[in-house]
Amino acid sequence: MKRTPAKRDAPVATRPPLAGLLGKTSKATQAVLAKIGVHRDFDLVLHLPLRYEDQTHLYRIIDAPAGQTVLVEGVVIDNAVKFRPKRQLVCTVEDDSGVVVMRFLNFYPSQLRQLAAGTRVRLFGEIRQGFFGAEMVHPKYRVVTEGAPVATQLTPVYPATAGLSQAVLQRLVDKALAAIDLDDTLPAPLLERLKLAGFRDSVRYLHHPPPAADLNQLEERTHVAWRRVKFDELLAQQLSMRIHYDRRKRVDAPPLQPRVKLTRALLDALPFALTNAQRKAAAEISDDLTRAYPMQRLLQGDVGSGKTIVAALAALQAIENGFQVAIMAPTEILGEQHYAKFSAWLTALGVTVAWLAGNLPRKAKREVLERVAAGEAQVVIGTHALFQDDVEFFKLGLAIVDEQHRFGVRQRLALRQKGGKAGALTQPHQLMMSATPIPRTLAMSYYADLDVSVIDELPPGRTPIATRLIADARRDEVVQRVRDACMTGSQAYWVCPLIEEAEVEEGAKSRPQNMRGRNEALQLQSVLDTHERLRETFPELRIGLVHGRLATAEKAAVMQAFTTGAVQLLVATTVIEVGVDVPNATLMVIENAERMGLAQLHQLRGRVGRGAGHSTCILLYQGALSALARERLKIIYSNTDGFEIAREDLRLRGPGELLGARQSGVPMLRFADVSTDVDLVESAREVAQDLLQSAPAVVETHLNRWLGGRENYLRV
Ligand code: ADP
Ligand code: MG
Repeated sequence: MKRTPAKRDAPVATRPPLAGLLGKTSKATQAVLAKIGVHRDFDLVLHLPLRYEDQTHLYRIIDAPAGQTVLVEGVVIDNAVKFRPKRQLVCTVEDDSGVVVMRFLNFYPSQLRQLAAGTRVRLFGEIRQGFFGAEMVHPKYRVVTEGAPVATQLTPVYPATAGLSQAVLQRLVDKALAAIDLDDTLPAPLLERLKLAGFRDSVRYLHHPPPAADLNQLEERTHVAWRRVKFDELLAQQLSMRIHYDRRKRVDAPPLQPRVKLTRALLDALPFALTNAQRKAAAEISDDLTRAYPMQRLLQGDVGSGKTIVAALAALQAIENGFQVAIMAPTEILGEQHYAKFSAWLTALGVTVAWLAGNLPRKAKREVLERVAAGEAQVVIGTHALFQDDVEFFKLGLAIVDEQHRFGVRQRLALRQKGGKAGALTQPHQLMMSATPIPRTLAMSYYADLDVSVIDELPPGRTPIATRLIADARRDEVVQRVRDACMTGSQAYWVCPLIEEAEVEEGAKSRPQNMRGRNEALQLQSVLDTHERLRETFPELRIGLVHGRLATAEKAAVMQAFTTGAVQLLVATTVIEVGVDVPNATLMVIENAERMGLAQLHQLRGRVGRGAGHSTCILLYQGALSALARERLKIIYSNTDGFEIAREDLRLRGPGELLGARQSGVPMLRFADVSTDVDLVESAREVAQDLLQSAPAVVETHLNRWLGGRENYLRV
């Protein structure tokens, strides 16, 4: 499981000058500390060790257990620079039981003098049996006098950074532990009931565990001391998000009563009946809309579960009350598709639907903006362009955000500020949709400020998609299948991957900005090459190409051609990941599938299997798969349930990937792990409710300790 130790949001623009301990350190130290997330004294207390070193026991050389990092002490008896075959400093140390050789491949000339024969040294490292007998390669060492005391506690090893030594960190942390108020924020009966350890004891233990401590439990973070810290963190998160949730009830929103005329008409016109799950979600939303405070509901449903029609019903409820509706999509392709769908559904009912994308011609855009401001356009569908400053609504009653995980919190909130001229002081209701199913504990944790509806069944008559994992070396077979599919009247996608940032090798973050640009360029090149190659392979097929760099009109034209069947094979980047709905497409080939996230593969795969025909998704992979890659791909081809896949993705990659852009406004949990600390998430949630009701003072001290100056977890 991936962890993000001590890496928090970048400091907010300006911070007040530091008081307390940190205030006494140099500006340079403050700057490096800020890099590792230490901005106030209390952050030092929470700067918990990554691991520990046991320097409490001095072994005789002969007794030192193999394969373990140990402390030994002796006197230097020989010391020379040798070529074995590389230039190295070799230094022999002897105690009363035997000798051990220290080898340094990198060393300073001064070390030769420092380690002169007769010097007493203490070495910390692993003893191995080398060609020349027992040896330690690059041990830590210290010149000592005879009888110098050994450590009485395990030595913490902290997350650090360049320019910040362990010694400095240890000193600062110890000062913080001694000087800061570590009194418990939680009442004793509560701790007792939950079997939680005291806060002071817990943090002290984690910084300085006794020699007998169970290192395994500490490293796995299952120790009771860890549980306490995790609980506190989760509780702070729950409290802050529940406060946020409750605050919303003090904000005004227009109550939108169900008038049912238009919704009934729409349902009557549909060629299908709603599933029970769709009906239930629609009812929950309809109920929320009648309230005088803004709805904040997340509608979750697997790819193809039919969220769009549920959104359309909500839109009609707003329209029947005389309000406008905004629908925001993360890509133009999806936006266009919604525009086509909503137009088809709603225009017949006399509702005006408008389309607003960033790169509309200036004149057309001005026209749309005028119609939006005058209230003439009742439903406005668009991309990010929707929340720009120049967009002014007449009376916005409902904002719908599709694929919400693709947007940041900031963007969603911007849309919320657009109540409109006529609705002056009210906020619109908000419906967010996501096809990335969030496992329950993750939702409980990160979506505690939202209400959630789930569509947990697919419309009837879908045939499950068969997924195949095929090595790139067997491309010929794949080519044959594409030909077969297209020649029998079906259509196919051929997808080239986005090389995810996370997959770029370690250290890329500190590299120049153009890294990303270069990746995009490479990706574009790869899709262009693939398109060219496939055109040579399939001279008989009508092939289309779509990627993010195409102009809006070109993109729309290609998608339109694919929808009507004029294009049989669509070569695409992952821009088609969300929303594209062409039921006649029954085959999808995904190149370099091993590089993609599970949730993303699942989304992509959801583009097929939308009609009655049998569909297949082929995952092509390059070269030999690593064990982890194999495990991940196995999850995809043995599961069709998005929730199951999400749970596995959470287990393998941590919450950041699943939450997508949302994390940009939310500091991730540093200590708790929502995939393993399920019971803690649950009790934190419960306790948060209780405390908010009955102990506001406790809430305040707890939040103060954990969030410091930060307003709450949803800070934007
Ligand atoms: P998603 O939840 O992924 O956004 P869509 O709303 O795009 O899914 O729906 C996928 C497809 O299923 C669309 O073609 C839609 O018209 C169709 N659909 C939605 N609800 C039903 C239903 N109850 N029965 C049959 N087909 C449905
Ligand atoms: Mg959708």
